[in-house]
Amino acid sequence: MTIETVGIVGAGQMGNGIAHVFALAGYQVLLNDISQDSLDKALVIIGKNMDRQISRGKLTEADKAEALGRIKTTLSLPDIGPTDLIIEAATERETVKTAIFDSLLPYLKPDTILSSNTSSISITRLASRTDRPERFMGVHFMNPVPVMQLVELIRGIATDDATYQTMLAIVERLGKTAASAEDFPAFIVNRILVPMINEAVYVLYEGVGSVQSIDLAMKLGANHPMGPLELADFIGLDTCLAIMNVLHDGLADTKYRPCPLLTKYVEAGWLGRKTGRGFYDYRGEKPVPTR
Ligand code: NAD
Repeated sequence: MTIETVGIVGAGQMGNGIAHVFALAGYQVLLNDISQDSLDKALVIIGKNMDRQISRGKLTEADKAEALGRIKTTLSLPDIGPTDLIIEAATERETVKTAIFDSLLPYLKPDTILSSNTSSISITRLASRTDRPERFMGVHFMNPVPVMQLVELIRGIATDDATYQTMLAIVERLGKTAASAEDFPAFIVNRILVPMINEAVYVLYEGVGSVQSIDLAMKLGANHPMGPLELADFIGLDTCLAIMNVLHDGLADTKYRPCPLLTKYVEAGWLGRKTGRGFYDYRGEKPVPTR
């Protein structure tokens, strides 16, 4: 299948990154969100991130101008129905995602491929509610999308081979590398990564270490480029909590119970970098630990 136009639902940190890489690879991108503010911010962030690539010699001003010219935004979900591929990258809540696919169905072309960037929700279940489970799959980009090499490709139980091969070719055109995962809760990367982050929050909760000592320990002791709490703030604490809940519910194992301290931060609206505060406070010049 030839894919030239891509509709992206959700213009948050993942949606804007996905729009960025598709536009640079020559696809026409239509970016949708329920918030005009998110759409406006997304265009500013994409421009800034491309500037960073220009300063590193990875992009020219002309590449940037052409890529930005390929991105259009819309508040109206039906507008993106006629695209060849739809990537849903809205908030990690199943009711939000199913409502998006339900509303989109009447406006789709018969052969449009549907996909979700979900970090953890069942692709098979999301697909089963649509009219095209065979043309539905998970395409899980990593954050920040323009920088990270991996894309996890997740086949639902009904996904056909043509859809999978089309996605594989798209990932290659984006200059990224695909890893295939089966459709079980949180797939590969987050099944391993997020329980580690949750454990780091338990270590903080139980007073074994401070925010600083936990991050320092994992950076210098395990050679991780970022500490787990720093990483949690980067991912978004609401997203981390949502993934733990999916693992806990989906695998029915108490080892996946979310740390109460993670829940408390989310209840406070301290969601990490995107809200200015999480395990660190980002409102000053330098991040300051909040515990
Ligand atoms: P985010 O909070 O930055 O952005 C979500 C966006 O979705 C917001 O702009 C919001 O306005 C919009 N939205 C909510 N409901 C909508 C609707 N009905 N229609 C259109 N837009 C809607 O979240 P994010 O970090 O970009 O995460 C988005 C998705 O990507 C989630 O499924 C998440 O699990 C997944 N993901 C996140 C990461 C990460 O590191 N943050 C990595 C990989 C995948």
